[in-house]
Amino acid sequence: MKTAIFPGSFDPFTVGHESIVRRAMSMFDKIVIMIGNNVNKKSFYSPEKRLKWIKQVFKDEPRVEVSVHEGLTVDFCKEVGAGYILRGLRTSSDFEYERAIAQMNKKMHPEIETVFLLTLPEHTPVNATIIRDIVFHGGDASMFLPKGLDMEEFKIENNR
Ligand code: ADP
Repeated sequence: MKTAIFPGSFDPFTVGHESIVRRAMSMFDKIVIMIGNNVNKKSFYSPEKRLKWIKQVFKDEPRVEVSVHEGLTVDFCKEVGAGYILRGLRTSSDFEYERAIAQMNKKMHPEIETVFLLTLPEHTPVNATIIRDIVFHGGDASMFLPKGLDMEEFKIENNR
């Protein structure tokens, strides 16, 4: 049984994230999306909301699970018996950042492999930070968010 963890802040989960998970499903038996919750870092959307949205996106996909986790990704891998960490790459700056994390993880936990998927060209600019900025200023970011979610719930006035 090949299990991968897809860790991230997913604040919010975008069409880019969704595409990485769907494409990775042919490579793994199970994918656990790990919503990182750093207690020292203020998030835009609550972990509860992020969890609910991602569950909704994969409600018809029993091979995808979602969980909120506070600690290190590698510890969570051990907890759920995952041998792989899945990450998406958009640009060379993503690559440099991801490379350092993956190589340090590999040094500490040689049994866990990090697997990268290159984003689809149309998802290269999709960025959660910019989506938060659009939402914060009252714009419509729905084209960058997974289909089938209630867009009202993303609005800033519903997150105060
Ligand atoms: P983190 O805070 O860990 O960087 P993110 O939620 O920003 O978490 O991203 C989680 C993973 O998804 C990372 O590997 C990131 O590179 C990847 N990712 C983010 N946006 C996209 C996108 N538009 N297309 C493909 N992968 C993406």
